[in-house]
Amino acid sequence: MMGERSAKIPLERRTGVISIQKLKELGYIPADDRLRRGAVAIFECIEPIPCNVCVFACPFKAVEMNKITDLPKIDFNKCTGCGLCVAQCPGQAIRVVDLSGKGNSASVILQYDLTDPPKKGDTVKLLNEYGEEIGVGEVELTYKHKRSEAYVIKVKAPKELALRTRGLRAGGE
Ligand code: SF4
Ligand code: SF4
Repeated sequence: MMGERSAKIPLERRTGVISIQKLKELGYIPADDRLRRGAVAIFECIEPIPCNVCVFACPFKAVEMNKITDLPKIDFNKCTGCGLCVAQCPGQAIRVVDLSGKGNSASVILQYDLTDPPKKGDTVKLLNEYGEEIGVGEVELTYKHKRSEAYVIKVKAPKELALRTRGLRAGGE
């Protein structure tokens, strides 16, 4: 009985693991031409919880929500990739990915939830949605958001890994 009931709950809500395909279905991954144009926010917010912090965190009105339990809708043409929403999301459900760089170099901005975060110039391990290492990157910037006190890290990553980078682990040697 329990098995039947849990089978009806979508995989990503049972496991907390959200595939890139699922993010595409939810409209959270921009089209390729927008991705190539410059930095843009990638949301991973799938729980209809009462939260609208991102709506008010965005100075460009790129995030919309009709009611507080809706999932956020992002207008990728309004999003500048500024990253202001990243530190303020209580669910750590926002990254910024920039694939517009020359060559094979991209960047990802994301929250780091441990103390003593890696600093500029450090090598870090790039993690996928399962927490598995998929490569290494180099920290470009680390800062602590004043209000949320969350650490935010901008990391340089190979282009083919940027969208798949969902977390970081210090020490990539
Ligand atoms: S990255 Fe900046 S512009 Fe884009 S949604 Fe977040 S706060 Fe708004
Ligand atoms: S702030 Fe984060 S958790 Fe809250 S609605 Fe926005 S994306 Fe979801």
